[in-house]
Amino acid sequence: MKIDLTGKSALVTGSTRGIGRAIAGTLAACGAKVAVVGRDKAKADAVSAELKDSRGFACDVAVPADVLKLVEDVEKEFGAIDILVNNAGITKDNLMLRLKDEDWDTVLDSNLRSAFLAIRAASRGMMKRRWGRIVNISSVVGLMGNKGQTNYAASKAGLIGLTKSVAKELASRNILCNAIAPGFIETDMTGAMTEEARTALMAQIPLARLGTPADIAWTTAFLCSEYASYITGQVLVVDGGLIM
Ligand code: NDP
Repeated sequence: MKIDLTGKSALVTGSTRGIGRAIAGTLAACGAKVAVVGRDKAKADAVSAELKDSRGFACDVAVPADVLKLVEDVEKEFGAIDILVNNAGITKDNLMLRLKDEDWDTVLDSNLRSAFLAIRAASRGMMKRRWGRIVNISSVVGLMGNKGQTNYAASKAGLIGLTKSVAKELASRNILCNAIAPGFIETDMTGAMTEEARTALMAQIPLARLGTPADIAWTTAFLCSEYASYITGQVLVVDGGLIM
C-alpha cells in the first residue's frame, strides 16, 4: 500500500512547527503540492523550502480576512485546493472561574471559527471539481473535557460538530470531512509539561509513550488517500489507547 497524492494540492494551517509541519512534510512526500502556513512568512518559507513543490504563506487564522485571503492566494498559486487540513491551534489555559473573556474568544476564534471560514471558502472549488478531503485536527480533550481548558475543549468539541455537519452537507459532492483527535503528542504545545506531570500521564497511556507528530501526519495522509474513500464524518482517535 502506497499513499499517492500526486496531482493534489493541499493547504495545511499551522504548518511551521509541530504536528502541522509533519503533516505538510508527509503530504508532500506522498506527492502533493503543499501550502505551508504560519503567522510569520519567513518561517513558512523556510519550511516550504525543505519540501518539494511547496510554498509558504503568512496568515493569522484568528483574523477572518486573513483566512479568506489565504484560500484565495493558495487557489491562485496552485490552481486548486483539493486537501484542507485545519491544524492551527492554540491554548490559553485557566480554571473556568478565572478565565478571561478575551482568552475564551482568542481560542475559539483561532481553533474553531478559522476552520469554519477555511472550509466555507475552500469547499466551493472542491464542489466544482467533485473531489475534496477536509481533515480537522481536534483533540481527545474535545471528547472528554479537561480541567483548566474549558475554552480549548469547547473549541475542539466544536470542531467535531463542524466536521460531522460538513460531512453531511458535502458528501454528495465527493467531499469527505473527518476529524483526528490526538492524545498527547511531543511538540512545543506539550513541551512545557513538568517531568512529574509527564510521568503521571505516561502511566495512563497503554502504549506508554507520547505520540509523535508523524503518528498524526500518517493518519492525515491516510484520510486524504483513496484508501479512505468510504470514511466521512468520523473522529479518529490517535492517542496510544489513552481514552479507550
Ligand atoms: P504547536 O504549538 O507546536 O504549533 C502550532 C502551529 O500553529 C504553529 O505552526 C503555529 O505557527 C500555528 N499557529 C498558531 N496560531 C496560529 C494563528 N493564529 N494563525 C496561524 N497559525 C497559527 O502545536 P501542535 O503542533 O502541538 O498542535 C497542532 C494542532 O494539534 C493544534 O490544533 C492542537 O490543538 C492540536 N493538538 C495537539 C496536541 C498535542 O499534544 N500537541 C494534542 C491534541 C491536539 P506560528 O507560530 O509560526 O504562527
